[in-house]
Amino acid sequence: MGKAKEMKFVADSMLGKLAKWLRVLGHDTHYQRYYSAGTINQLVDEGRYLLSRHRETAKQYNNVLLLHSNNVGDQLAELKELVDLASARSKWFTRCLICNDLLENVQLNKAQENVPEYVFYHNASGIRHCPSCARYYWPGSHRKNMVRQLEKWGFTPFQVLKDPSGNGTPLPA
Ligand SMILES: [Zn+2]
Repeated sequence: MGKAKEMKFVADSMLGKLAKWLRVLGHDTHYQRYYSAGTINQLVDEGRYLLSRHRETAKQYNNVLLLHSNNVGDQLAELKELVDLASARSKWFTRCLICNDLLENVQLNKAQENVPEYVFYHNASGIRHCPSCARYYWPGSHRKNMVRQLEKWGFTPFQVLKDPSGNGTPLPA
């Protein structure tokens, strides 16, 4: 399996939780609760890797990553062994968790109308918006919990610190 930075995925209908967490990490992950005939084929043909726990399903496709675990943390661990999952924290929380679209910056007056007042006054610059479903996202306790969960699963984003020799020394953040 070649490793590529910007792999796109399609998660089968049993892997909704995994799809959500891949979106948290910033990976383009298509997911539906139900796929009509041919849909997955089409998505795989477009260059997405199918994620599946079904050996029989997996056999039908070329670009497939077969997972075994039932638990989403373990599934992510399996996937990390197979492909490069985003360790760059700048990628985290850049996608809508519901529809997979990239989040966009918002105009401040729009944000003010659509988020709680305390968020606006403490975190206005961190507010993002999904162009598809119009949900608003911002840094807060919910996000902190997700970061903690990712760290428990071994997602330790690397920070490059400058040392006197001028070479970056990667240290766990
Ligand atoms: Zn959305």
